[in-house]
Amino acid sequence: MIKKIEHLGIAVKDLSVSIPLYEKLFQTPCYKTEEVSSEGVKTAFFQIGDSKIELLEATNSDSPIAKFLEKRGAGFHHVAFEVTEIDAEIARLSEEGFQLIHTSPKDGADNKRIAFLHPKSTDSLLVELCQEKN
Ligand code: ZN
Repeated sequence: MIKKIEHLGIAVKDLSVSIPLYEKLFQTPCYKTEEVSSEGVKTAFFQIGDSKIELLEATNSDSPIAKFLEKRGAGFHHVAFEVTEIDAEIARLSEEGFQLIHTSPKDGADNKRIAFLHPKSTDSLLVELCQEKN
């Protein structure tokens, strides 16, 4: 079951520039940076009230973020939904005809198991499912 929006993902060119920018905008410090080498990204997280923002920088030219920046430039990248049972949610969405980029959950940033839906099957919105690891 989809419970709530867990975070919004924003693609940036350079975290060393964007972290201080967003710290000024949000008036709160970035609480964590983390590299997810399997995805070729470095992430930075902000907590604003109940909401979370994830900045994503590419760590190599094959990274999905590098490709996104090339095509569309920096800016809004994905919405992540917290789910209660990620395996069951992947199965349900596949049955409903959605195309999954990850057909089984993988390790994401911030202690999560994650899977992305293909934007082709979601009206071009990049959707991430995530579940907190126990
Ligand atoms: Zn995310």
